[in-house]
Amino acid sequence: MFCEIASGRQPARIVYQDDLVTAFWDIHPQARVHILVIPNQHLTSLREAEETDPVLLGRCLQVAARVAREAGIAESGYRVLTNVGPDAGQSVYHLHFHLLGGNRLRMALG
Ligand code: 5GP
Repeated sequence: MFCEIASGRQPARIVYQDDLVTAFWDIHPQARVHILVIPNQHLTSLREAEETDPVLLGRCLQVAARVAREAGIAESGYRVLTNVGPDAGQSVYHLHFHLLGGNRLRMALG
């Protein structure tokens, strides 16, 4: 499904896109700022990290930091997280990093 967003076949509120990565607003925001950062290339989750170009993974995190700055939350703070598999509650099996901020975040560690 996120492949469709990266390729423009499904609409989303895209805030950043380059040849490697797309960032767009989450459809059900869990914080004032809730943006998802995905690789354009399909990877199911971080489980595939060791078989993946590290430049692509690094780029996702760089884009998260850039989008956070552009959203005005770089100073107030934010959280970047990724859910992997059923125990973490992953619901979309295309690697995505949640960027959350804009308000005080609760700590949920398990
Ligand atoms: P997960 O639970 O897999 O870590 O996170 C999936 C996230 O994708 C959820 O926060 C959910 O709201 C978001 N999401 C699911 N489908 C869509 C969609 O079609 N468009 C957008 N923008 N977000 C979606």
